[in-house]
Amino acid sequence: MQLYALALGSNRRHHRHGGPAGVLAAATEALAAHGVRVIARSRIRATPALGPAGRGFANAALLVETPLDPPALLAVLKRIERDFGRRPGRRWGPRVLDIDIALWSGGRWPQRGRAAPGRLSVPHAALAERSFVLDPLSDLFPQRFGGMHPRALRHRLSGLLN
Ligand code: ATP
Ligand code: CA
Ligand code: CA
Repeated sequence: MQLYALALGSNRRHHRHGGPAGVLAAATEALAAHGVRVIARSRIRATPALGPAGRGFANAALLVETPLDPPALLAVLKRIERDFGRRPGRRWGPRVLDIDIALWSGGRWPQRGRAAPGRLSVPHAALAERSFVLDPLSDLFPQRFGGMHPRALRHRLSGLLN
């Protein structure tokens, strides 16, 4: 079994699931329906919009368990994003659902060398710079990581899943 920390975000309504917080709750159910077992979930945090793009985000993190390797899990995540009505579009633009792989118990993907541009890279390349990812991750392990500096937190979290 592989352990992963996933980072979820939404800043658009879904016609059935409602606002961004409802989207994240429904996405968590969708993961379970795809055989990705949810071990722990952060609380859902509201994050103000960056730049002029519009609405604020809801963000959350999940600790999950699955036999899938990182590329196979990414395929499931993209499938769920598509099922939620996400269409390929601008990076950073409004989106109903984004699920990224933040951390993996296997350490780094690809296992040798660096990912080509646009290809899967784990830990997520921007993890250490994003408090909207790190804060929910620290919810998952509050006694151990609450209040840590983001860079220190990133190292401790990778260690935890290794
Ligand atoms: P960002 O990766 O900066 O958060 P984004 O989530 O908006 O941007 P997407 O359009 O959702 O970007 O995905 C673009 C590509 O990023 C995906 O096709 C995927 O191959 C790649 N990618 C690289 N590393 C990861 C990762 N750790 N988790 C998810 N996708 C990743
Ligand atoms: Ca993202
Ligand atoms: Ca993404």
